[in-house]
Amino acid sequence: MRVLLVEDDEMIGRSLKQALEGAGWSADWVRDGELAQSALGDGGYTCVLLDLGLPKQDGTEVLRRARERGDATPVLVLTARDGLDDRIHSLDLGADDYLLKPFEFRELLARMRAVVRRRDGAAHSLVGSGALQLDLTTREVVVNGARDALTAREFALLHALLERPGAILSREQLENRIYGWGEEVTSNAIDVLIHGMRRKLGADAIRNVRGLGWRVAA
Ligand code: CA
Repeated sequence: MRVLLVEDDEMIGRSLKQALEGAGWSADWVRDGELAQSALGDGGYTCVLLDLGLPKQDGTEVLRRARERGDATPVLVLTARDGLDDRIHSLDLGADDYLLKPFEFRELLARMRAVVRRRDGAAHSLVGSGALQLDLTTREVVVNGARDALTAREFALLHALLERPGAILSREQLENRIYGWGEEVTSNAIDVLIHGMRRKLGADAIRNVRGLGWRVAA
């Protein structure tokens, strides 16, 4: 799953990006509000980590414009500002949660899982339906009650498909959800990934719709 990290502090940004990638996220890092705006416009993010004090465009302005465009990507505000007004303002503008710096990385990951779950409409950590579910906490797939581990990319692929069971996602849409900037994507990367998933989940778990893309059963 891809996360957009918006942070102008070099030290915090670098260590967060590294920690996020270590936790299996594909992290794109931008250092000012305008770049955040254009990255959000490209889409494909599961979650946004947004600093408020940013060059060129304030974090609250980035958030306000994104929500005005109808962009519903979950936003977790990371801020050193401990003023009550800033927190209330960002929540009113459509932030899903906030975390005050400095914070423990484990808490950040837990809050990211929580905002993603809420967007998925799940009160607990399982998303999906019927025989095929994903556990957002353990990153396992649950097939008819049996659990199996997934790689970060397998998890991102299945999460994208399970957001709207039955809907077809194209190769480009899947690539956009799985790979961050600068990651090498071979032309058959999605096919290889899906081939491996079918061996794990059963041949019918992910259906190919010829010429259009892939879907899971509704
Ligand atoms: Ca800042």
